Amino acid sequence: MTKDVRVRFAPSPTGPLHIGGVRTALFNYLFAKKHNGTFILRIEDTDQNRYVEGAEDYIVESLNWCNIPFDEGPNKNEKFGPYRQSERKHLYKQYANELIEKGHAYYAFDTAETLDFHRKDHEAKGKTFIYNWHNRLKLSNSLSLTKEEVKAKIDAGDNYVIRFKSPQDEILRLKDIIRGDIKIDTNVLDDKVLFKSDGMPTYHLANIVDDHLMEISHVIRGEEWLPSLALHYQLYTAFGWETPQFAHLPLILKPTGKGKLSKRDGDKLGFPVFPLEWTDPKSGDTSRGYKEDGYFADAMINFLAFLGWNPGTEQEIFNLEELTNAFDLDRVNKAGARFDPDKIKWFNHHYMQVQDNNGLADAFKNSRTELIEIDSQYIEMVVALVKERATFVGDFWDLSHFFFVAPISYDEKASKKALKEDTAEILTTVKDLIDSLEDFTVENLQNTIKGWITSNEIGFGKVMMPLRLALVGALQGPDVFDIIFMIGKTETLNRIDAIIKSI
Ligand code: GLU
Repeated sequence: MTKDVRVRFAPSPTGPLHIGGVRTALFNYLFAKKHNGTFILRIEDTDQNRYVEGAEDYIVESLNWCNIPFDEGPNKNEKFGPYRQSERKHLYKQYANELIEKGHAYYAFDTAETLDFHRKDHEAKGKTFIYNWHNRLKLSNSLSLTKEEVKAKIDAGDNYVIRFKSPQDEILRLKDIIRGDIKIDTNVLDDKVLFKSDGMPTYHLANIVDDHLMEISHVIRGEEWLPSLALHYQLYTAFGWETPQFAHLPLILKPTGKGKLSKRDGDKLGFPVFPLEWTDPKSGDTSRGYKEDGYFADAMINFLAFLGWNPGTEQEIFNLEELTNAFDLDRVNKAGARFDPDKIKWFNHHYMQVQDNNGLADAFKNSRTELIEIDSQYIEMVVALVKERATFVGDFWDLSHFFFVAPISYDEKASKKALKEDTAEILTTVKDLIDSLEDFTVENLQNTIKGWITSNEIGFGKVMMPLRLALVGALQGPDVFDIIFMIGKTETLNRIDAIIKSI
C-alpha cells in the first residue's frame, strides 16, 4: 500500500450507537492498525433535526469501553479539524459552487408542494418520480430557466437547493473491495440534493468533501450506504479528486427470520443491541447495554469481529492484538451476518476464564451487600473456584453463596436422594474426623475422610452427598473439600450439626 492508510468512522449523533455501528468502527480500527494507519472519528451532524443530546458522548464512551479509541477526532489530534461537520458548515458552500461553475450541479427552485405533486401523480400512474435528465428541463432550475430568471430568483431570496447533474446514458464502473466490480447505468440515478435550502450541505456533499480534506484512503462502512456509492464516485470525478477505496460491510441480520437487526429488536428479542446502556433524553426510556449486562469488552469485540469476517481457520478466540494481525478486508463476506446472542455469551464465558480474579472479585464484592464486610482475598479465592461455571459476574452469587452464608434450607429432591436412615450416624463420625484434624488442609481433609470411607467400605455417595447437602443446601458446587477448607472447621461442624438436627 503506497498511500498512508487513513480511515474514518463517521456516525451521525442521532441516538445511541447501534451494535452494527460498533462493528463498523471495529473493522475501521482493525484495518487502520493492521496497516499502521490512522483511525478517525468524524461526527456527521449536518441534519440538525435529528440531533440527539448526549449521542456524541455516548459514541466516544462506547469506543473507549471497547478499547478501540480513535487517533484523530473531536478534541483529539485535530490535525484536519474540526471533526464535527456542524463546525465545518462554512466550508461546504464553496464546493457546491465549484460544481455549479464546472457544470456538474445546478440550482433548483421547485417547492416542496410541486415535488410532492409530481411524486403523487407518478405514484397514481404506478411510476416513480425521479428528478433527473429526463424531466429536469420541465422543472424549475438553472438548467431550465434563463440566467436572468435564476439571478432574479436568488436576489429575491427564493429558496433553492443545489442538485448534482447526473449524466445521461453513461455506464459507471465502480469498485468495492468486498463486492468487486459494480456497473451502474446513470439513467436510473436521480439528481441528488447536495446543498439544502437551510444553508447546510446534505450527507453526500459533506461526506465526500470531508473524506477528501481529511485525506481518507479507505471508506469502510455499512452496506446501507452502497446505493450512495455511484453518486460519491461521480462527485470525486466531478471535483477531479482521487477516489478513496471503498468497502461496504455486510448487513447484520436478526437472529432468526428475515431482515436486518434493528434498534428495536433488542427490547423485543431480549438482548441488548447497544454497547452501553442508553437513556433517551426525551422519553426517559432506558435501553440495555452489553457493558451493564455484564459482558466483557474483549468478548464483545471478538464476537463482533466474526460478524461478517472470518480468519479462514478454525480459531475463534482472538484478542484485539490477534485480530489486528489476522484481519483483512479480503476475508470480509458479502452475505449478511446473522446475529447470535448465544454466541456472545459463549465468548463471555471464555473471557471470564482469562480475566484477572482480583478484578472479578472486586466486581463481585461491589455487586452484593452481603460481601461488603468480607475479606477481598477470600472473595478472590471463591471466584477462582466457581468461575469456570460462570458466564457473568452476576452468576457468582448463585454459584457461591454457601461460601459466605450457611444454607437456610435443603433442596427437597436432593434431600430425598442424600438423606438415609444411617446418615445421622455417618455424619456424626465425619464431624469427629474433621474436628480432630490438626493440620487443616484440603489434602489432609481429603485423605482422612476418603481413607475412612474406603477402610469402612461405606460407599462414597452415602458420605459425600449428605456432607455436600449440609454445606451447600443442594447437590451442587465445587469440590466438597475445597468448600470445607474455605469456610473453616467451626463453620463446617456447625453446618453438619444443623443437618443432623433436621433429619
Ligand atoms: N453519517 C453516515 C452514518 O451515519 C456515514 C456513512 C459513511 O460512512 O459514509 O453512518
